[in-house]
Amino acid sequence: MRMRCSVCRELFEREKVEFSPAVCPKCEQDEAVAIECVRNYVRNRPGVSLDVVSKALGVSRKKIKEYIEADHLQIF
Ligand SMILES: [Zn+2]
Repeated sequence: MRMRCSVCRELFEREKVEFSPAVCPKCEQDEAVAIECVRNYVRNRPGVSLDVVSKALGVSRKKIKEYIEADHLQIF
């Protein structure tokens, strides 16, 4: 099945849709790295605000919130 990545807009192949929006393997990897960065940053700075994390790591507030809501992170 051919899909368009919701992050980089490249077309990629996947056997079936497991989640949406579709994200290609490369961006999926980037996302995993970003989640890990946010997690480490926050772990070392308890009580840090969303704004500070966003600016320090270059990850948008929207993305950080998404990670939290997706339950990848249990912080704040
Ligand atoms: Zn992509």
